Amino acid sequence: MGKTPPAPETARISSFVLMIVLIVLALSLVALAMAVIAYFGREQIVAGYLLVIGVIALTLSIYVLLQSRRRVMKMKIEVPQVMTTIECKKCGYKSVREFQRGDYVFKELGPCQKCPDDKMMITAIYKEVKEKEKPSPF
Ligand SMILES: [Zn+2]
Repeated sequence: MGKTPPAPETARISSFVLMIVLIVLALSLVALAMAVIAYFGREQIVAGYLLVIGVIALTLSIYVLLQSRRRVMKMKIEVPQVMTTIECKKCGYKSVREFQRGDYVFKELGPCQKCPDDKMMITAIYKEVKEKEKPSPF
């Protein structure tokens, strides 16, 4: 009761990173705008500093953005689905569903869908490895 499912860690982190990146991005754009203003105001040195700061901040924020996106994509690929096979020993009826908390091999479940007098049993729990696009050898 009152138990909330844990927030998806990856989504939380990426939104936090995204927020920081957007702030840095905005600051870098401000720095670049100020650099242009300073340049036209004949303050070449100040313009140079602002330009460097702006470019570094811009590069950094884009880099972080790309890195975090890549990490999220990697996570999506690396999490294989765990499947549970349920079988009826009597009629051989087989069904596969996603793994649920508390599943274990030889656990008895509800009655069979085809012969309701017999109970179904978990016969296998395995990680489903989906055939992804094969990485190019080049
Ligand atoms: Zn059956």
